[in-house]
Amino acid sequence: MKTVSKTLKIETKKKIELIDITNEVENFVRESNIKNGFCLIFAPHATAAIIANENEKGLINDIIRKIKEEFPQEYNWEHDRIDDNAYAHIASSFIGASKVFPIIDGRLIRGTWQNIFLVELDGPRFIRNVILQIIGE
Ligand code: ZN
Repeated sequence: MKTVSKTLKIETKKKIELIDITNEVENFVRESNIKNGFCLIFAPHATAAIIANENEKGLINDIIRKIKEEFPQEYNWEHDRIDDNAYAHIASSFIGASKVFPIIDGRLIRGTWQNIFLVELDGPRFIRNVILQIIGE
């Protein structure tokens, strides 16, 4: 059993934004030389999230629109008394900050329409970290 990890450093440019990190994750799986195991993708942030879905421009806009509808910025949130990003904390809590994918025969297993995205919820940020950890053999 072997464990390898890597931290992606990602600059975000918008308040709410989806950034496709599929290539970075799959490159790391290849470099790891681990043939069977799993890969954790974790954003160590309270106002970001990780999702897996289709990289289609319209859908990306739909997801952003739904996030804004479900977690409105103006809502008299209590956390906004000390900070101005309650909606982003709540969205991150509900969407989730990590995903795990199986690795089988050296390939990350995901659906054809499951690209991996970092979801920025309170950008822009100079650096968002995404930790990749692969465990297997
Ligand atoms: Zn806050």
